[in-house]
Amino acid sequence: MSELLLEYEKVTSTCTRCPLAATRTQVVFGSGDPDAELMFVGEAPGFHEDKNGVPFVGQAGKLLETLLNGIGLSRTDVYIANVLKCRPPGNRDPQPEEIEACESHLFHQIELIRPTLVATLGNFATKLLSGKPTGITRVHGVAQQVTLGGNEVTLYPLYHPAAALYTRSMLSVLEEDFRRIPELLGLTTVAPEPAELPAEPDVELEPELPREPAVQLGLF
Ligand code: URA
Repeated sequence: MSELLLEYEKVTSTCTRCPLAATRTQVVFGSGDPDAELMFVGEAPGFHEDKNGVPFVGQAGKLLETLLNGIGLSRTDVYIANVLKCRPPGNRDPQPEEIEACESHLFHQIELIRPTLVATLGNFATKLLSGKPTGITRVHGVAQQVTLGGNEVTLYPLYHPAAALYTRSMLSVLEEDFRRIPELLGLTTVAPEPAELPAEPDVELEPELPREPAVQLGLF
């Protein structure tokens, strides 16, 4: 699918579906493994992302990378994208008309990448991809099954790393929620239940002697 994704990236690079086209430096399509099992969806590019053309390269991106490393993954193992592909001026919140204009880019991306697990970062991605208005404070860390891009996907809402940078308690929750990702990807091996063993005798048993016929032992 990587060629189709590249082609689609080219198509979106000239997008003028909403007024953000006039103020952006460039479209920030997404980055990472086009065949990734795990995809992250953030909110919108910020200052650094708009300049570099790559999502999550600022402070929030550094935290995302640290969290990924903590579960044995790196940026190149996953795919990272945003709800909006262009930076809202001054990093203001995405507007409903902008989300509406941009959402089919994200849906098509998901259709081409076909991840099995989509981790939404923050409220905007969570509400858009769950199709529900329930906020991140209530749903973070709760995996749910949804159909995205025609495929069954596990949606896993997480706090946005930028929010976690400001609030320490959110950071520990984000770290804790992150720790469940390998299990959701089916990467953890569950240790088998220990077999039930007979109770240990209290005294040490004599070393087992070769069984001699009773006669030879002079018992008869
Ligand atoms: N925040 C986001 O949601 N996306 C980025 O790419 C960077 C910061």
